[in-house]
Amino acid sequence: MPLLPPQPWMTAPESRLVMTALGAARFVGGCVRDALLGLPVSDIDIASPHPPDEVTRRLEAVRVRVIPTGIKHGTVTAVTAGRHFEITTLRRDLACDGRHAEIAFTDDWREDAARRDFTINALSCTLEGEVFDPFDGIGDLAARRVRFIGRAEDRLREDLLRLLRHFRFYARYGGESPDPEALAACQALAPLLNGLSGERVRAELFRLLTGPRPAEVWALMVTAGLPPHLLPAATRVARLDTLLSLERHLSLEGPERAVVRLAALLDTDGAGVLAAAKRLRLSVAERARLVALVAPTVAVDPRDSPAALRRAAAALGDGARFLDLALLGAATTGSEAGWLDRITTVLDGWRSAPFPVSGADALALGVAPGPDLGRLLADVRDWWAEQNFSPDRAACTAELGRLVARRGKARRSPA
Ligand code: ATP
Ligand code: MG
Repeated sequence: MPLLPPQPWMTAPESRLVMTALGAARFVGGCVRDALLGLPVSDIDIASPHPPDEVTRRLEAVRVRVIPTGIKHGTVTAVTAGRHFEITTLRRDLACDGRHAEIAFTDDWREDAARRDFTINALSCTLEGEVFDPFDGIGDLAARRVRFIGRAEDRLREDLLRLLRHFRFYARYGGESPDPEALAACQALAPLLNGLSGERVRAELFRLLTGPRPAEVWALMVTAGLPPHLLPAATRVARLDTLLSLERHLSLEGPERAVVRLAALLDTDGAGVLAAAKRLRLSVAERARLVALVAPTVAVDPRDSPAALRRAAAALGDGARFLDLALLGAATTGSEAGWLDRITTVLDGWRSAPFPVSGADALALGVAPGPDLGRLLADVRDWWAEQNFSPDRAACTAELGRLVARRGKARRSPA
């Protein structure tokens, strides 16, 4: 039996406390898999042969807080010393309609392993580091193979989310090409993706987009015929690939890049982006961000002159959005040398100098509220932006006054 050398997350006092209180428990899934690969471990999942009420009783007896986070599936979350542990009672899945699983608790470790999706996700280990590997997940990790436990098609029919999980795990743990049986089954069952809920698709998609090699794996998903059943407009793999290299260059990473990367993939217009947001059940904020990137009100073309770029930045009023639009623009049209320096110079100048006048200043000069006022302010803002954001409040107010006077004159003189 393989032995996992002691890991900091295993030997931490809170892990010992929880595992000792639970008795026959083992660490399972991702933490064991990633530790075997020498990757960092953040989430700790634990499996226990005891039913959830017994798990709860044992933990509360040692003053560990227990939250019934997924009690229907036999999962509770233990919280101690600021660390969270998801503890799931060993179970077998009786009936799956792709969304809801009817389950039964068991005390059979192998049965619990068999209901998991991939061989590399069915690993478990004791507090002492004794590793259990019922389906040769270690062999598959070494061979960079993401293989379903049992027949791929059967496992996908039980829960179609596994189709997306397959590509996400392949991106992280797979090699040069996916397991042929898994790929064929994904391709065959792709039309069923229509039935998958937006929330579940969104969660997997965002994790895929912010994980390793998203463009390469999305290209594979396009070849397998997935987008028409998932997100029809998400086909611009080359643009995503270019965006990713620009992001790498600027060290842009983290979960908030998911929406920008999705925007890069989408080949659509204002109506199409709303359809995509609806399919994924995006939050109001995510939808607004996606729309602003795919169908922007202000165009940012990195090939434009510095003056035009400054006007665009000031009009957008949002530096992060300006940069993302510039990156998407460069990924779409290509760019010539020096564009990124231009963009960052514009951004730096603009960030250090907020536009110093507002609607109140125009009202004070006797301008009536309404669309005219907005246009006046936009003209002053363009003027300010073109001069490298340098005019101060007094200069901007004077320019506003000049424009108001000129308009008054134009209105009084007959055409
Ligand atoms: P990650 O590092 O991405 O969190 P993980 O392996 O911890 O990887 P989770 O989605 O957190 O993945 O799930 C924990 C474990 O639960 C998996 O390793 C797998 O054994 C099992 N699991 C999760 N979702 C499914 C599913 N849809 N079908 C079968 N087993 C699943
Ligand atoms: Mg996990």
